[in-house]
Amino acid sequence: MKVVKFGGSSLASGIQLEKVFQIVLSDPKRKVVVVSAPGKRFAEDTKVTDLLIACAEQCLQNQFPKEKLEAVIERYSMIAEECHLPDWVIKEINDDLVKRFESDQSNPDRFIDLIKASGEDNNAKLVAAYFRERGVEATYVDPKEAGLRVSNEPGNAQPLPESYERLFSLRERPGILIFPGFFGYSEQDEVVTFSRSGSDITGSILANALKADIYENFTDVDAVYSVNPFIVKSPKEIKVLTYREMRELSYAGFTVLHDEALLPAFRAGIPVQIKNTNNPAAPGTKIVNGRDNTNGPVIGIASDQGFCSIYVSKYLMNREVGFGRKLLGILEDFSLSYEHTPSGIDDVSVILRENQLNERIEAEIIQRIMTELHADEVKIEHSLALIMVVGEGMRHNVGTMARASKALARASVNIEMINQGSSEVSMMFGVKEVDEKRAVQALYEEFFVAVSVI
Ligand code: ASP
Repeated sequence: MKVVKFGGSSLASGIQLEKVFQIVLSDPKRKVVVVSAPGKRFAEDTKVTDLLIACAEQCLQNQFPKEKLEAVIERYSMIAEECHLPDWVIKEINDDLVKRFESDQSNPDRFIDLIKASGEDNNAKLVAAYFRERGVEATYVDPKEAGLRVSNEPGNAQPLPESYERLFSLRERPGILIFPGFFGYSEQDEVVTFSRSGSDITGSILANALKADIYENFTDVDAVYSVNPFIVKSPKEIKVLTYREMRELSYAGFTVLHDEALLPAFRAGIPVQIKNTNNPAAPGTKIVNGRDNTNGPVIGIASDQGFCSIYVSKYLMNREVGFGRKLLGILEDFSLSYEHTPSGIDDVSVILRENQLNERIEAEIIQRIMTELHADEVKIEHSLALIMVVGEGMRHNVGTMARASKALARASVNIEMINQGSSEVSMMFGVKEVDEKRAVQALYEEFFVAVSVI
């Protein structure tokens, strides 16, 4: 049995919906179909989820979002028309949205989640109606009734352990099951969404709970590429990679699959197959527990911007018990989460996402580190990009770091910091944002194009 998930662009129009229908029917093992809300039809288009968020925000300002509601309805109507669906389908969606707009708004985050989740919920009903119109036994599944329980964190839900056992019984239901992605219900029966792009998470939870043979995630690219195709033209496709490699790559900007979506599938050892709705014959990329390391040390290179580092130096830091704890304690007081802490004998850098900081917080942090830790120097460096060079093969290959740093030197990229995770699946380089593209190109050239001699 397969759990299949289709992303927003795979469901953005009637033509796309027809492709989805054909894909599902072409394999009788495809029993559970998880759907996103209609996404972008073209680059400048707006996702239904974004339209819904704008609706919710307007409601919260005590205005009925008439035009925005019309825009949402128009998106569904266009699909319904192209698919020759009966009028009641759109009427039900309209009634559902108006009812949601009238519900309790005392907790804005909760209200936004309720509106946001309707994108997937109504789309699942529409898709089920379409399958039935085409003569196929298909039913919409209500996540509440099916037992998808999540933590009570609006916009950032986590699945609760009991969900898995409850959802298992879906296996017994006849026909094809159309399950809305992106949200579940709290123990208080409130709608709570996962973080953005979270329909991937729903698919993974269902694959785990139903003990599927595979979780197929259909999107709009042929495969996971070894590097961002906007930085390197026509990069190599990855055929097989491990959960760990995918986790490292999605951390630093590979957005093909939500990084939280790996865990449920990984725990149950269920392979994840990335496929293209627009080219289903392409083999895609398979994410598995282990693979043969036949491709050399590196499988992919990812990069992401928007980081900063807090550099702290103090003579004899290495001998001072509790220095690291106190430093991180100061950051905790400001509710800051950190990403990495590369260190030397007398210095340490803490890397953070810089959108958590502002001038006031920075000044206070510097002040506290200077006075409470008696540091010799504290400075904050902005506009850093992190580049992750990822591959399980690194563990068995000598000289990967040398090759990477030589490639960066050849491209005249100054390395601001280096960190190699203890699992030896990745190396991280911090560079200035302006150097990011050049650095990634140089690393790609080194590991994927040139036959190089150390
Ligand atoms: N529609 C939601 C979003 O745009 C969830 C998803 O597509 O996975 O974030």
